[in-house]
Amino acid sequence: PYAVPETGAAVKAADRAHVFHSWSAQAVIDPLAVAGAEGSYFWDYDGKRYLDFSSQLVNTNIGHQHPKVVAAIQEQAGKLCTFAPGFAIDVRSEAARLVARATPGDLDKIFFTNGGAEAVENAVRMARLHTGRHKVLSAYRSYHGATAAAINLTGDPRRWPSDTASAGVVHFWGPYLYRSAFHAETEEQEAERALAHLEQLIAFEGPQSIAAIILETIPGTAGILIPPAGYLAGVREICDRHGIVFILDEVMAGFGRTGKWFAADHWEVIPDLLTFAKGVNSGYVPLGGVAISPAIAETFATRPYPGGLTYSGHPLACASAVATINAMREEGIVENAATIGDTVIGPALREIAERHKCVGEVRGLGVFWALDLVKDKATREPLVPYNAAGAANTPMAEFAAACKAEGLWPFVNMNRTHVVPPCTVSEAEVKEGLAALDEALSVADAHTVG
Ligand code: PLP
Repeated sequence: PYAVPETGAAVKAADRAHVFHSWSAQAVIDPLAVAGAEGSYFWDYDGKRYLDFSSQLVNTNIGHQHPKVVAAIQEQAGKLCTFAPGFAIDVRSEAARLVARATPGDLDKIFFTNGGAEAVENAVRMARLHTGRHKVLSAYRSYHGATAAAINLTGDPRRWPSDTASAGVVHFWGPYLYRSAFHAETEEQEAERALAHLEQLIAFEGPQSIAAIILETIPGTAGILIPPAGYLAGVREICDRHGIVFILDEVMAGFGRTGKWFAADHWEVIPDLLTFAKGVNSGYVPLGGVAISPAIAETFATRPYPGGLTYSGHPLACASAVATINAMREEGIVENAATIGDTVIGPALREIAERHKCVGEVRGLGVFWALDLVKDKATREPLVPYNAAGAANTPMAEFAAACKAEGLWPFVNMNRTHVVPPCTVSEAEVKEGLAALDEALSVADAHTVG
């Protein structure tokens, strides 16, 4: 029989015995043993509480253990735990209806997956079959998942060990004014030059060979890079002109994170395919999917769609999505994210930036914010080099440790810390977290020059 470990040390020892962790050197990791979680907090076996300013992997938009979502999973488990995708299941149809209603424009058919990477895989497959073309363009400074096509599309170092040259993927530079690839000095220049760069890349790759352009509406892990006005509309126009499918990856930015249902709603841009996961049900049960335009759905009206998953539209996952989306509407959770971002997080972070030598730029929307940390505000040299590891990453490692000592669980990537609490976070919780962040930034200040 299974003896439930009762101490943090025992839980950790059991983990180290058999669990193989993602993205990690197995012999050097030291995972925190978690005893429980509720709302914006989780705690360990010694009773130390952490305010979750990471929403785990930016997915618990509704917070931990939301009672309505927990109850919906329990109820569905008592009714029908699992059923193959080929059958009509009430809760699956309702989840699809609610997702279709929430997504922008005329996206009306929903293909369910188990998570974000599979959503990207299937969106790319749909685009290739719809156009009869092979190449897919994606941005540097992006993350699209860890399966074959998704990792090749990714524009960060996680791609390097899994690169397959034949994947037909070409990377381009998206807009990022603070570290402009185009020597731009204004948002207008950045948008215009990023579009000109993309247009030229398409001309040299051959538009007739390009199936799709995939973009995170707001690149998330890469630094919460808010696109300048006109950029996404410009990409939409380029896609239309060349018959290229426009895929927006809203796996991280979607379902309330930016203070709207989808980040695309901020610019009223409608993609042909939209990938989602994470916030659709806050990850209570694995779920992702692709929202599909009528034109692409029509391609597969009489021709079979050649893709599927045993757990596509899993009843427990769909029940948790239905409960999540309904609770978000009933409790004004998306509105909370918008208000707290506009009135509390944004102003407070800008004020923090003025007081700390290490904060180069603050950017964000809703509960989706990044601090770009620098050695020197004048030169904008990042606090640690790109993809730093070991001793070179000491300033960020010390900063993260200082946050945790203060009871704040941060989201740290390269030279950035992201402020990405649940969409349900309260003003008092935000203030508590920002006070801890403020303290921890002093540790990073010690590594600045000038
Ligand atoms: N796309 C984006 C924008 C993401 O942020 C992620 C995960 O962080 C993914 C895709 C991959 O999702 P998953 O880890 O559920 O496969």
